[in-house]
Amino acid sequence: MFAAGGTPAAQPVAASAAVSGGSPYVFPLPRSPATIAAQCKTLLADLSRTETQLAQGSELSGSALLAGLDAMTRRTEDTLGPLGLLVAVSPSKSVRDAADACDRDYQAYSSRFWQNAALYLRLKQVQPADEIDRRFWRDTLDNFEDAGVALAPGQQLRVRELNDELTALTQAFERRIREDRTQLWFTRHELAGVPAGVLKAAPRDTRGRYRLGLEQATVFPVLENATRPATRERVWRAYLSLGGAANLDTLAILAQRRREMAQLFGHASYADFVLRHRMAHSEAEVQTFLSTVKEAVSARELADLEELRAEKARHLNQAVDQTVLFRWDTAFYSERVRRATYAVDQEQFRRYFPPEPSLRFLFRVAERLFGITFAPSATPQSLWHPEARAYTITNNDSKELLGTLFVDLYPRADKFNHAALWSFRNVSTWADRLPAAALVVNVSRQGLTLDELETLLHELGHGLHALLSRTRYAGQGGTNVQLDFVEAPSQMLEDWVYDPQVLALFGEVCPSCEPVPPPLLAQARAARDFGKGIQFSRQYLYASYDLALHGREPADPLALWAQMEGATALGHVPGSMFPAGFEHIAGGYAAGYYGYLWSLVLAEDLRTAFAADRLSPVVGQRYRATVLQNGGQVAPGELLQRFLGRPNDSRAFFKALTQGD
Ligand SMILES: [Zn+2]
Repeated sequence: MFAAGGTPAAQPVAASAAVSGGSPYVFPLPRSPATIAAQCKTLLADLSRTETQLAQGSELSGSALLAGLDAMTRRTEDTLGPLGLLVAVSPSKSVRDAADACDRDYQAYSSRFWQNAALYLRLKQVQPADEIDRRFWRDTLDNFEDAGVALAPGQQLRVRELNDELTALTQAFERRIREDRTQLWFTRHELAGVPAGVLKAAPRDTRGRYRLGLEQATVFPVLENATRPATRERVWRAYLSLGGAANLDTLAILAQRRREMAQLFGHASYADFVLRHRMAHSEAEVQTFLSTVKEAVSARELADLEELRAEKARHLNQAVDQTVLFRWDTAFYSERVRRATYAVDQEQFRRYFPPEPSLRFLFRVAERLFGITFAPSATPQSLWHPEARAYTITNNDSKELLGTLFVDLYPRADKFNHAALWSFRNVSTWADRLPAAALVVNVSRQGLTLDELETLLHELGHGLHALLSRTRYAGQGGTNVQLDFVEAPSQMLEDWVYDPQVLALFGEVCPSCEPVPPPLLAQARAARDFGKGIQFSRQYLYASYDLALHGREPADPLALWAQMEGATALGHVPGSMFPAGFEHIAGGYAAGYYGYLWSLVLAEDLRTAFAADRLSPVVGQRYRATVLQNGGQVAPGELLQRFLGRPNDSRAFFKALTQGD
């Protein structure tokens, strides 16, 4: 997952931006909610002043106007970037709420800004100086047009009202998940099979019962390992109720308001409205792509499920035709098949991957590939939690500082409970500004499974995209690329953790760590292909559901989900409400979830260049120079062409999908 800090694509930003030069970034931790409110007020005043100057300054050249608009982006990031991160990680509810309030005020300003007709007309007359300016110019015009600059005043007002409401609704949806306090109590007996690490971390009451929450570091190991079906079912049902009925209502309103928004612009659906600016171009193109994926994996899904059912029958010593596979069985029996067939137990990996060395190992992989060095920041930093820390990244050849990465590794109450990268401050070579990003995950202190190591690398991949980017405009920095491309650089790297040559680097960062036995890794590689049918069919379902919810016809979120999931092999479990926890589509991935599969096609194609050596500094540096460095200032297709030396295609993706790697 990836989270754009406070600054999604459509954001104005201020000419008065402070230039940080090559100096290290210091995280501006606000002292109190009142400080946040004051900072927010200053931000909005600065933006308004710059907006007036830009709209009136007839002597401004075209490039000065583009630069001025990007300076507004930087000014916004200076304040809102850190605040957007604090919403997800600050232990203080009053800080989180104040940061949310600032975002709402900013979004309200932003809606009006993008309807500034005088500024739009001035921008339209600009003659871009080169291709980079042209792309930035075109994207910025799109922002104005998509905000309703050309609509009648009554419609413009409605667009602003809708934007305000969408912001508040999305915030409420995310807050209910983040602040969930569900506690499940189990006896030791009920937790049979659950890994010792989970039990060790769980608080106990005077009767010796264990308290489990719904963070992924707890839920996934329980679903994969708890031998008692009733335990898995209870955890599964609780996890699949995260967000609750209130979030289903919110999702229904979100979808309805987005549809109304699209209709104001003459589009029948929100999907049509947003997809025209994506690589995929149109809903029809996405649907065609998704059907091809579905066709490629459906037989494999059924075979996977049959294998799980057979495993369940063996486990319970009963006939296969008497055996029903439930949704809370799939993770458990997938693990059993992996253990039985491939002798792989994800839990076995935790002893080889302690959290801190794992992070240093992934840094080392990036260092080797891209010619950079990570080091704990020497600059004193006041951060949001004692366990959060900062690292600088420098270029080995030139010794220049490239950016700052903040890391927040472990679970705690009220913290964002998945894994994501906040790219909250973007690079701008013109403004001599260095980027900063934050890696927020929830790994177990007992160590990582190989799957979790892969997730950590995925998120670090977004961080590398953000921090190694060297774009002219902050608005095009790093991960500010088209949404159906943004996952590709991270997905490409996921593969790396299965490579013995890559894992050998672990010894360099932690000589005392026990190396992963080569047979275990080889078995994990073999086992990885098992379950692909189930996994891709699920991705297909999520993407199709997202498109249907944001399609032409209004639909009740849960009824639609029950119908679509009901049509799958395992059916829908009444009472479960997956959409209530589907944060992606409540937020920035609305009508964009397909992007995970779409990007994977590109990721598989990118991997072909590293087929001979995943640690090749030559290929790595070429990749850095062609893809990462250019962020969003060059179209994705052109980036791929420059890196691969040919147009991108889907051969590698479908080969991996149907045959395995
Ligand atoms: Zn991601």
